[in-house]
Amino acid sequence: MQKVLIVTGGSRGIGAALSRLGAEAGYAICVNYRRGREAAEALVTEINARGGHAIAVAADVAVEADVMRLFARVDEDLGSVTALVNNAGILEKHARVEDMDAARLGRVLAANVTGSFLCAREAIRRMSTRHGGQGGAIVNVSSRAARLGSPGEYVDYAASKAAVDTLTIGLSREVAAEGIRVNAVSPGIIYTDIHASGGEPGRVDRLKDAVPMKRGGQPEEVAHAILWLLSGEASYVTGANLDVSGGR
Ligand code: NAD
Repeated sequence: MQKVLIVTGGSRGIGAALSRLGAEAGYAICVNYRRGREAAEALVTEINARGGHAIAVAADVAVEADVMRLFARVDEDLGSVTALVNNAGILEKHARVEDMDAARLGRVLAANVTGSFLCAREAIRRMSTRHGGQGGAIVNVSSRAARLGSPGEYVDYAASKAAVDTLTIGLSREVAAEGIRVNAVSPGIIYTDIHASGGEPGRVDRLKDAVPMKRGGQPEEVAHAILWLLSGEASYVTGANLDVSGGR
């Protein structure tokens, strides 16, 4: 059976590393993106040139109609999804809570929580043996922030990732008997462009001395952990939350 992996927010950072390594591991890849069509198309071209099989599909994972179209497109072009990684996520400029408005909180929850919820739902509808599916695996990309709280910087983001952690626990138990495993990874500080969105592009280097391993992580180091959780080697692992944080 062809393994089919959907990577949300897959055109850069951790998602792009995962798309490349997932293709090498034999998955047909759907690189989902919201903005940056050129980067997504270039990544797909690169994967296909190396003998992989990838498509790029635009969708805002926080918008239900977009998510329905994303999964329908994968059904048509790649076949039924066997693996989903809810990687898409945003954080906004560092701020104290007094300076955050409800619109900001809404955007963060929509991308990080609603997006993960909607994509997991569509995957489960296809994977569950209750619905005639063949089973599958889901990994939610959370963050160490969920347990650190990120005071003075982005408590909204930290709270959204705590919701992702609880979603992981609930879903894992709900579908455990239906052939679907649901796990999370919690990266520490990883070299990607998300820190520029927070207004601090040099954040990883500033914080690396606080990491027991004394360095930031590379996107590939998170991607390898995700691929292991998706793989048959993790066949008895569900509801787990794996820190990929250099011991932080
Ligand atoms: P990134 O900003 O490079 O990648 C995130 C991607 O998600 C971007 O391509 C963005 O366009 C996409 N995205 C955002 N909202 C979307 C939406 N509504 N629909 C579709 N796509 C959307 O950053 P990254 O570090 O690679 O982030 C990947 C995941 O890792 C995120 O969930 C992030 O919260 C998490 N994370 C990152 C770090 C870190 O230090 N980099 C630490 C902990 C957790």
